[in-house]
Amino acid sequence: MACPRCGSLLDVQYEWDRLPAPRSLRDFEAKWARRQDPYCFSGVWRFYELLPFAPQEFCVTVGEGQTLLQPSDGVGEYIGLKSGRLFLQYEGLNPSGSFKDNGMAAAFTHARLIGARRAACASTGNTSASLALYCAATRLMRAIIFVGSGKIAYGKLSQALDYGALTIQIAGDFDDAMARVKEVSQQLGIYLVNSVNPFRLEGQKTIMYRVLEGLGWEVPDWVVVPGGNLGNSSAFGKAFEELYQLGLIRRKPRLAVINAVGANTLYILYEKQKVRWNDGQVARQTVADYYAQMDSEGRRASTIASAIEINRPVNLDKCLRALQWCQGLVREVTDEEILDAKAQVGAGGLGCEPASAASVAGAKKLVAEGIISPDERVVCVLTGHVLKDPTATVAYHTTDQKMFNEVLGRRGVRRPAFANRPVSVSNNLEEILKAIQLYG
Ligand SMILES: *Cc1c(COP(=O)(O)O)cnc(C)c1O
Repeated sequence: MACPRCGSLLDVQYEWDRLPAPRSLRDFEAKWARRQDPYCFSGVWRFYELLPFAPQEFCVTVGEGQTLLQPSDGVGEYIGLKSGRLFLQYEGLNPSGSFKDNGMAAAFTHARLIGARRAACASTGNTSASLALYCAATRLMRAIIFVGSGKIAYGKLSQALDYGALTIQIAGDFDDAMARVKEVSQQLGIYLVNSVNPFRLEGQKTIMYRVLEGLGWEVPDWVVVPGGNLGNSSAFGKAFEELYQLGLIRRKPRLAVINAVGANTLYILYEKQKVRWNDGQVARQTVADYYAQMDSEGRRASTIASAIEINRPVNLDKCLRALQWCQGLVREVTDEEILDAKAQVGAGGLGCEPASAASVAGAKKLVAEGIISPDERVVCVLTGHVLKDPTATVAYHTTDQKMFNEVLGRRGVRRPAFANRPVSVSNNLEEILKAIQLYG
Protein backbone atom coordinates (compact mmCIF):
# COMPACT_ATOMS: atom_id res chain seq x y z
CA MET A 1 0.00 0.00 0.00
CA ALA A 2 3.05 2.23 -0.29
CA CYS A 3 4.74 3.76 -3.32
CA PRO A 4 7.59 1.45 -4.36
CA ARG A 5 9.73 4.46 -5.27
CA CYS A 6 9.36 6.89 -2.36
CA GLY A 7 7.82 4.67 0.34
CA SER A 8 4.93 7.08 1.01
CA LEU A 9 1.38 5.77 1.33
CA LEU A 10 -0.79 5.66 -1.78
CA ASP A 11 -3.60 8.16 -2.14
CA VAL A 12 -6.82 7.89 -4.15
CA GLN A 13 -7.21 10.65 -6.73
CA TYR A 14 -10.12 10.98 -9.14
CA GLU A 15 -10.33 12.52 -12.57
CA TRP A 16 -13.39 14.47 -11.60
CA ASP A 17 -13.86 16.04 -15.02
CA ARG A 18 -14.35 12.56 -16.50
CA LEU A 19 -16.90 11.51 -13.86
CA PRO A 20 -20.50 12.50 -13.36
CA ALA A 21 -19.78 14.56 -10.23
CA PRO A 22 -22.84 15.68 -8.25
CA ARG A 23 -24.01 19.19 -9.02
CA SER A 24 -25.41 19.78 -5.57
CA LEU A 25 -25.04 18.04 -2.22
CA ARG A 26 -28.81 18.15 -1.82
CA ASP A 27 -29.08 15.52 -4.57
CA PHE A 28 -27.93 12.94 -2.01
CA GLU A 29 -30.96 13.53 0.18
CA ALA A 30 -33.20 12.09 -2.51
CA LYS A 31 -31.64 8.69 -1.85
CA TRP A 32 -33.31 8.56 1.56
CA ALA A 33 -36.55 7.85 -0.23
CA ARG A 34 -35.03 4.75 -1.85
CA ARG A 35 -33.52 3.10 1.19
CA GLN A 36 -34.82 -0.37 0.34
CA ASP A 37 -31.91 -0.27 -2.15
CA PRO A 38 -28.83 -1.31 -0.06
CA TYR A 39 -26.65 1.24 -1.87
CA CYS A 40 -29.02 4.02 -0.86
CA PHE A 41 -29.40 2.63 2.67
CA SER A 42 -25.64 2.50 3.28
CA GLY A 43 -24.36 5.74 4.79
CA VAL A 44 -21.19 5.16 2.78
CA TRP A 45 -22.48 4.20 -0.67
CA ARG A 46 -25.26 6.77 -0.54
CA PHE A 47 -22.38 9.12 -1.43
CA TYR A 48 -21.02 6.83 -4.15
CA GLU A 49 -20.45 9.71 -6.59
CA LEU A 50 -17.88 11.15 -4.16
CA LEU A 51 -15.85 7.91 -3.87
CA PRO A 52 -16.35 6.21 -7.25
CA PHE A 53 -13.25 3.99 -7.24
CA ALA A 54 -15.10 0.72 -7.95
CA PRO A 55 -18.02 -0.27 -10.17
CA GLN A 56 -21.15 -0.03 -8.03
CA GLU A 57 -21.95 -3.75 -8.30
CA PHE A 58 -18.71 -4.56 -6.43
CA CYS A 59 -19.50 -2.29 -3.48
CA VAL A 60 -19.78 -4.18 -0.21
CA THR A 61 -22.27 -3.07 2.42
CA VAL A 62 -23.58 -4.45 5.69
CA GLY A 63 -25.69 -1.37 6.40
CA GLU A 64 -22.88 0.82 7.78
CA GLY A 65 -23.10 4.53 8.37
CA GLN A 66 -26.63 4.80 9.76
CA THR A 67 -25.24 7.37 12.14
CA LEU A 68 -26.61 10.66 13.29
CA LEU A 69 -25.45 14.13 14.06
CA GLN A 70 -27.01 14.92 17.42
CA PRO A 71 -27.24 18.35 19.05
CA SER A 72 -26.11 18.13 22.67
CA ASP A 73 -26.57 21.14 24.90
CA GLY A 74 -25.59 19.20 28.02
CA VAL A 75 -22.16 18.29 26.70
CA GLY A 76 -21.96 21.71 24.98
CA GLU A 77 -22.34 23.41 28.35
CA TYR A 78 -19.55 21.26 29.77
CA ILE A 79 -17.31 22.29 26.87
CA GLY A 80 -18.24 25.94 27.35
CA LEU A 81 -20.34 26.47 24.25
CA LYS A 82 -23.60 28.38 23.96
CA SER A 83 -26.83 26.50 23.53
CA GLY A 84 -27.32 24.95 20.09
CA ARG A 85 -23.64 25.12 19.14
CA LEU A 86 -22.40 21.59 19.88
CA PHE A 87 -23.14 18.56 17.73
CA LEU A 88 -21.97 15.01 18.37
CA GLN A 89 -21.47 12.74 15.37
CA TYR A 90 -22.21 9.38 16.99
CA GLU A 91 -20.31 6.73 15.01
CA GLY A 92 -20.88 4.18 17.76
CA LEU A 93 -24.15 3.36 15.97
CA ASN A 94 -22.32 1.45 13.22
CA PRO A 95 -22.84 -2.34 12.88
CA SER A 96 -19.62 -3.15 14.75
CA GLY A 97 -19.96 -0.14 17.05
CA SER A 98 -17.27 2.17 15.70
CA PHE A 99 -16.57 4.47 12.75
CA LYS A 100 -14.20 1.82 11.34
CA ASP A 101 -17.12 0.26 9.43
CA ASN A 102 -17.20 3.27 7.08
CA GLY A 103 -13.66 2.54 5.99
CA MET A 104 -14.08 -1.22 6.05
CA ALA A 105 -16.95 -1.09 3.54
CA ALA A 106 -14.64 0.69 1.12
CA ALA A 107 -11.51 -1.41 1.75
CA PHE A 108 -13.55 -4.59 1.47
CA THR A 109 -14.91 -3.38 -1.83
CA HIS A 110 -11.41 -2.91 -3.17
CA ALA A 111 -10.31 -6.30 -1.80
CA ARG A 112 -13.25 -7.91 -3.57
CA LEU A 113 -12.42 -6.04 -6.76
CA ILE A 114 -8.94 -7.57 -6.85
CA GLY A 115 -10.16 -11.01 -5.76
CA ALA A 116 -8.55 -11.22 -2.31
CA ARG A 117 -9.42 -14.33 -0.23
CA ARG A 118 -7.84 -13.32 3.08
CA ALA A 119 -7.68 -9.96 4.82
CA ALA A 120 -5.55 -8.94 7.79
CA CYS A 121 -5.07 -6.03 10.14
CA ALA A 122 -3.19 -5.01 13.26
CA SER A 123 -5.57 -3.39 15.64
CA THR A 124 -6.12 -1.70 18.95
CA GLY A 125 -9.49 -3.45 18.68
CA ASN A 126 -12.04 -1.70 16.54
CA THR A 127 -10.47 -2.34 13.14
CA SER A 128 -10.32 -6.03 13.99
CA ALA A 129 -13.93 -6.06 15.21
CA SER A 130 -14.98 -4.39 11.97
CA LEU A 131 -12.93 -6.66 9.72
CA ALA A 132 -14.19 -9.74 11.54
CA LEU A 133 -17.79 -8.57 11.14
CA TYR A 134 -17.45 -7.88 7.41
CA CYS A 135 -15.85 -11.28 6.85
CA ALA A 136 -18.55 -13.06 8.82
CA ALA A 137 -21.45 -11.14 7.30
CA THR A 138 -20.34 -11.29 3.66
CA ARG A 139 -18.41 -14.60 3.68
CA LEU A 140 -16.15 -13.09 1.03
CA MET A 141 -12.89 -13.43 2.95
CA ARG A 142 -11.17 -14.94 5.96
CA ALA A 143 -10.20 -12.46 8.70
CA ILE A 144 -6.76 -12.60 10.32
CA ILE A 145 -6.20 -10.09 13.09
CA PHE A 146 -3.10 -9.11 15.05
CA VAL A 147 -3.52 -7.57 18.49
CA GLY A 148 -1.04 -6.58 21.19
CA SER A 149 -1.38 -8.80 24.23
CA GLY A 150 -3.33 -7.24 27.07
CA LYS A 151 -3.82 -4.08 24.97
CA ILE A 152 -7.31 -4.61 23.68
CA ALA A 153 -10.57 -3.65 25.37
CA TYR A 154 -12.80 -6.63 26.12
CA GLY A 155 -15.78 -5.44 24.12
CA LYS A 156 -13.64 -5.39 20.99
CA LEU A 157 -11.82 -8.67 21.59
CA SER A 158 -15.11 -10.41 22.27
CA GLN A 159 -16.43 -9.22 18.89
CA ALA A 160 -13.44 -10.56 16.95
CA LEU A 161 -13.72 -13.93 18.69
CA ASP A 162 -17.48 -14.17 18.25
CA TYR A 163 -17.29 -13.28 14.54
CA GLY A 164 -14.77 -16.07 14.08
CA ALA A 165 -11.62 -14.19 13.09
CA LEU A 166 -8.25 -15.91 13.36
CA THR A 167 -6.92 -13.87 16.29
CA ILE A 168 -3.17 -13.66 16.82
CA GLN A 169 -2.05 -12.06 20.07
CA ILE A 170 1.48 -10.74 19.84
CA ALA A 171 3.60 -10.13 22.92
CA GLY A 172 3.89 -6.41 22.29
CA ASP A 173 1.81 -3.31 21.64
CA PHE A 174 0.01 -1.90 18.59
CA ASP A 175 3.15 -0.50 17.01
CA ASP A 176 4.75 -3.98 17.21
CA ALA A 177 1.65 -5.69 15.80
CA MET A 178 1.52 -3.16 12.96
CA ALA A 179 5.12 -3.82 11.96
CA ARG A 180 4.50 -7.59 11.95
CA VAL A 181 1.25 -7.57 10.02
CA LYS A 182 2.93 -5.60 7.24
CA GLU A 183 5.65 -8.26 6.96
CA VAL A 184 3.21 -11.14 7.12
CA SER A 185 0.74 -9.75 4.59
CA GLN A 186 3.55 -9.04 2.16
CA GLN A 187 5.02 -12.55 2.49
CA LEU A 188 1.72 -14.38 2.25
CA GLY A 189 -0.07 -12.04 -0.14
CA ILE A 190 -2.84 -11.22 2.33
CA TYR A 191 -4.93 -8.08 1.79
CA LEU A 192 -4.13 -5.46 4.43
CA VAL A 193 -7.02 -3.37 5.74
CA ASN A 194 -5.22 -1.10 8.19
CA SER A 195 -5.54 2.58 7.46
CA VAL A 196 -2.33 2.37 5.42
CA ASN A 197 -4.99 1.22 2.95
CA PRO A 198 -6.05 4.36 1.03
CA PHE A 199 -9.54 2.98 0.32
CA ARG A 200 -10.33 2.94 4.04
CA LEU A 201 -9.96 6.69 4.04
CA GLU A 202 -12.32 7.02 1.07
CA GLY A 203 -15.06 5.34 3.12
CA GLN A 204 -14.33 7.48 6.14
CA LYS A 205 -14.82 10.67 4.12
CA THR A 206 -18.55 9.92 4.25
CA ILE A 207 -18.65 10.65 8.01
CA MET A 208 -18.17 14.30 7.08
CA TYR A 209 -20.78 14.13 4.30
CA ARG A 210 -23.27 12.97 6.92
CA VAL A 211 -22.21 15.78 9.24
CA LEU A 212 -22.92 18.31 6.49
CA GLU A 213 -26.22 16.58 5.76
CA GLY A 214 -27.13 16.82 9.46
CA LEU A 215 -26.48 20.56 9.31
CA GLY A 216 -28.63 21.08 6.22
CA TRP A 217 -25.43 21.20 4.10
CA GLU A 218 -24.00 24.08 6.10
CA VAL A 219 -20.33 23.89 7.01
CA PRO A 220 -19.57 23.89 10.77
CA ASP A 221 -16.83 26.13 12.19
CA TRP A 222 -14.89 23.28 13.79
CA VAL A 223 -14.56 19.53 13.46
CA VAL A 224 -12.84 17.93 16.46
CA VAL A 225 -11.58 14.35 16.22
CA PRO A 226 -9.34 12.05 18.27
CA GLY A 227 -6.04 11.19 16.61
CA GLY A 228 -4.56 7.67 16.71
CA ASN A 229 -3.28 6.36 13.40
CA LEU A 230 -4.68 9.58 11.91
CA GLY A 231 -6.80 7.91 9.25
CA ASN A 232 -9.95 9.76 10.24
CA SER A 233 -8.41 13.22 10.38
CA SER A 234 -6.72 12.54 7.01
CA ALA A 235 -10.00 11.41 5.49
CA PHE A 236 -11.93 14.40 6.85
CA GLY A 237 -9.43 16.86 5.37
CA LYS A 238 -9.63 15.10 2.01
CA ALA A 239 -13.43 15.12 2.11
CA PHE A 240 -13.60 18.87 2.65
CA GLU A 241 -10.83 19.73 0.20
CA GLU A 242 -12.50 17.70 -2.55
CA LEU A 243 -15.91 19.25 -1.91
CA TYR A 244 -14.27 22.65 -1.98
CA GLN A 245 -12.45 21.95 -5.25
CA LEU A 246 -15.68 20.62 -6.76
CA GLY A 247 -17.42 23.84 -5.78
CA LEU A 248 -19.91 21.99 -3.55
CA ILE A 249 -18.97 23.96 -0.41
CA ARG A 250 -17.79 27.56 -0.22
CA ARG A 251 -15.53 27.23 2.81
CA LYS A 252 -13.89 24.51 4.84
CA PRO A 253 -14.24 24.02 8.61
CA ARG A 254 -11.21 24.16 10.88
CA LEU A 255 -9.92 20.79 12.03
CA ALA A 256 -8.71 20.00 15.56
CA VAL A 257 -6.98 16.67 16.15
CA ILE A 258 -6.73 15.52 19.76
CA ASN A 259 -3.99 13.23 21.07
CA ALA A 260 -3.77 11.60 24.48
CA VAL A 261 -0.82 12.86 26.52
CA GLY A 262 0.52 9.30 26.64
CA ALA A 263 0.48 8.97 22.82
CA ASN A 264 1.17 12.47 21.59
CA THR A 265 3.48 12.12 18.59
CA LEU A 266 1.37 14.35 16.34
CA TYR A 267 1.05 16.98 19.06
CA ILE A 268 4.82 17.13 19.60
CA LEU A 269 5.69 17.14 15.91
CA TYR A 270 3.04 19.65 14.85
CA GLU A 271 2.76 22.03 17.79
CA LYS A 272 6.26 21.84 19.33
CA GLN A 273 8.55 21.02 16.43
CA LYS A 274 6.41 22.82 13.85
CA VAL A 275 6.49 20.01 11.29
CA ARG A 276 4.16 20.95 8.42
CA TRP A 277 2.84 19.35 5.22
CA ASN A 278 4.46 22.20 3.38
CA ASP A 279 2.97 21.11 0.04
CA GLY A 280 4.57 17.67 0.37
CA GLN A 281 7.98 18.80 1.63
CA VAL A 282 7.63 17.33 5.14
CA ALA A 283 10.72 17.74 7.36
CA ARG A 284 11.58 14.02 7.29
CA GLN A 285 14.71 14.35 9.37
CA THR A 286 12.83 16.00 12.25
CA VAL A 287 10.33 13.13 12.26
CA ALA A 288 13.05 10.46 12.01
CA ASP A 289 15.01 12.08 14.83
CA TYR A 290 11.93 12.15 17.04
CA TYR A 291 11.20 8.47 16.41
CA ALA A 292 14.85 7.60 17.09
CA GLN A 293 14.66 9.51 20.36
CA MET A 294 11.49 7.63 21.39
CA ASP A 295 13.23 4.34 20.63
CA SER A 296 16.41 5.18 22.49
CA GLU A 297 14.37 6.15 25.56
CA GLY A 298 12.30 2.97 25.21
CA ARG A 299 9.16 5.15 25.24
CA ARG A 300 5.88 3.31 24.59
CA ALA A 301 2.42 4.72 24.02
CA SER A 302 0.35 4.57 27.20
CA THR A 303 -3.20 5.81 27.69
CA ILE A 304 -6.55 4.50 28.93
CA ALA A 305 -7.86 5.53 25.48
CA SER A 306 -6.59 2.30 23.91
CA ALA A 307 -7.92 3.13 20.43
CA ILE A 308 -5.45 6.01 20.18
CA GLU A 309 -2.59 4.35 22.08
CA ILE A 310 -0.26 4.71 19.10
CA ASN A 311 3.14 6.38 18.91
CA ARG A 312 3.89 5.93 15.21
CA PRO A 313 0.79 7.08 13.35
CA VAL A 314 0.88 5.57 9.88
CA ASN A 315 -1.06 8.44 8.30
CA LEU A 316 1.14 11.20 9.67
CA ASP A 317 1.80 12.79 6.25
CA LYS A 318 -1.82 12.73 5.13
CA CYS A 319 -2.90 14.19 8.45
CA LEU A 320 -0.38 17.03 8.05
CA ARG A 321 -1.93 17.62 4.63
CA ALA A 322 -5.40 17.71 6.16
CA LEU A 323 -4.19 20.15 8.82
CA GLN A 324 -2.92 22.42 6.05
CA TRP A 325 -6.15 22.14 4.05
CA CYS A 326 -8.33 22.89 7.08
CA GLN A 327 -6.17 25.38 9.05
CA GLY A 328 -5.85 22.69 11.66
CA LEU A 329 -4.33 22.45 15.09
CA VAL A 330 -3.48 19.69 17.54
CA ARG A 331 -3.95 19.40 21.29
CA GLU A 332 -3.18 16.76 23.90
CA VAL A 333 -5.45 15.79 26.80
CA THR A 334 -4.78 13.72 29.93
CA ASP A 335 -6.49 10.43 30.74
CA GLU A 336 -8.30 12.21 33.56
CA GLU A 337 -9.68 14.83 31.17
CA ILE A 338 -10.67 12.06 28.75
CA LEU A 339 -12.56 10.07 31.37
CA ASP A 340 -14.34 13.10 32.81
CA ALA A 341 -15.41 14.08 29.28
CA LYS A 342 -16.52 10.50 28.66
CA ALA A 343 -18.70 10.58 31.77
CA GLN A 344 -20.27 13.81 30.52
CA VAL A 345 -21.01 12.26 27.13
CA GLY A 346 -22.67 9.39 28.97
CA ALA A 347 -24.62 11.78 31.19
CA GLY A 348 -25.73 13.49 27.97
CA GLY A 349 -27.41 10.25 26.91
CA LEU A 350 -25.13 8.95 24.16
CA GLY A 351 -22.07 7.29 25.66
CA CYS A 352 -18.73 6.53 24.05
CA GLU A 353 -15.47 4.75 24.66
CA PRO A 354 -12.50 6.60 26.17
CA ALA A 355 -10.70 7.47 22.90
CA SER A 356 -13.85 9.09 21.51
CA ALA A 357 -14.14 11.40 24.49
CA ALA A 358 -10.75 12.92 23.63
CA SER A 359 -12.63 15.03 21.08
CA VAL A 360 -14.89 16.48 23.78
CA ALA A 361 -11.99 17.01 26.20
CA GLY A 362 -10.03 18.68 23.40
CA ALA A 363 -12.90 20.97 22.43
CA LYS A 364 -13.23 22.01 26.08
CA LYS A 365 -9.53 22.86 26.15
CA LEU A 366 -9.79 24.93 22.96
CA VAL A 367 -12.73 26.91 24.35
CA ALA A 368 -10.79 27.55 27.56
CA GLU A 369 -7.85 28.77 25.46
CA GLY A 370 -10.15 31.17 23.63
CA ILE A 371 -9.42 29.51 20.28
CA ILE A 372 -12.94 28.17 19.83
CA SER A 373 -15.45 30.88 20.62
CA PRO A 374 -18.58 29.91 22.59
CA ASP A 375 -20.89 30.79 19.73
CA GLU A 376 -19.08 28.85 17.02
CA ARG A 377 -20.63 25.71 15.62
CA VAL A 378 -18.59 22.69 16.75
CA VAL A 379 -18.82 19.02 15.74
CA CYS A 380 -17.13 16.45 17.97
CA VAL A 381 -16.83 12.98 16.46
CA LEU A 382 -17.70 10.16 18.86
CA THR A 383 -15.73 7.38 17.27
CA GLY A 384 -16.85 4.32 19.24
CA HIS A 385 -19.66 2.92 21.37
CA VAL A 386 -19.76 3.07 25.17
CA LEU A 387 -19.95 -0.74 25.44
CA LYS A 388 -16.57 -1.21 23.76
CA ASP A 389 -14.61 -0.73 26.95
CA PRO A 390 -16.75 -1.51 30.01
CA THR A 391 -13.64 -1.98 32.16
CA ALA A 392 -12.69 1.69 31.89
CA THR A 393 -16.24 2.83 32.58
CA VAL A 394 -16.75 0.64 35.65
CA ALA A 395 -13.31 1.51 37.03
CA TYR A 396 -14.19 5.21 36.76
CA HIS A 397 -17.48 4.91 38.60
CA THR A 398 -16.57 2.13 40.99
CA THR A 399 -16.14 2.16 44.75
CA ASP A 400 -13.71 -0.73 44.40
CA GLN A 401 -10.39 0.94 45.16
CA LYS A 402 -8.39 -2.04 43.95
CA MET A 403 -10.02 -1.98 40.53
CA PHE A 404 -9.66 1.78 40.34
CA ASN A 405 -5.97 1.61 41.16
CA GLU A 406 -5.27 -1.22 38.75
CA VAL A 407 -7.06 0.30 35.79
CA LEU A 408 -6.80 4.06 36.32
CA GLY A 409 -4.51 4.85 39.26
CA ARG A 410 -1.44 3.56 37.51
CA ARG A 411 -2.18 5.97 34.66
CA GLY A 412 -2.17 8.97 36.94
CA VAL A 413 -5.95 9.35 37.17
CA ARG A 414 -6.73 10.60 40.68
CA ARG A 415 -10.16 12.12 41.08
CA PRO A 416 -13.03 11.12 38.79
CA ALA A 417 -15.08 14.33 38.86
CA PHE A 418 -18.34 12.73 37.73
CA ALA A 419 -18.17 9.27 39.30
CA ASN A 420 -21.64 7.76 39.79
CA ARG A 421 -20.85 5.41 42.62
CA PRO A 422 -22.83 2.22 43.01
CA VAL A 423 -24.33 2.02 46.51
CA SER A 424 -23.73 -1.23 48.36
CA VAL A 425 -26.32 -2.40 50.86
CA SER A 426 -27.00 -5.69 52.55
CA ASN A 427 -29.90 -7.80 51.31
CA ASN A 428 -32.34 -6.22 53.70
CA LEU A 429 -35.49 -4.30 52.74
CA GLU A 430 -35.13 -1.65 55.41
CA GLU A 431 -31.55 -0.88 54.42
CA ILE A 432 -32.49 -0.72 50.75
CA LEU A 433 -35.31 1.72 51.48
CA LYS A 434 -32.96 3.81 53.60
CA ALA A 435 -30.36 3.94 50.84
CA ILE A 436 -32.94 5.11 48.30
CA GLN A 437 -34.17 7.82 50.65
CA LEU A 438 -30.64 8.92 51.30
CA TYR A 439 -29.36 9.02 47.72
CA GLY A 440 -32.46 9.17 45.52
C1 LIG B 1 -9.46 3.80 15.42
C2 LIG B 1 -10.07 4.65 16.45
C3 LIG B 1 -9.61 5.95 16.71
C4 LIG B 1 -8.43 6.52 16.03
O1 LIG B 1 -8.70 6.89 14.71
P1 LIG B 1 -7.52 7.12 13.67
O2 LIG B 1 -8.17 7.23 12.37
O3 LIG B 1 -6.62 5.93 13.78
O4 LIG B 1 -6.80 8.36 14.10
C5 LIG B 1 -10.28 6.70 17.64
N1 LIG B 1 -11.34 6.21 18.32
C6 LIG B 1 -11.79 4.98 18.10
C7 LIG B 1 -12.96 4.49 18.89
C8 LIG B 1 -11.19 4.15 17.17
O5 LIG B 1 -11.66 2.92 16.98
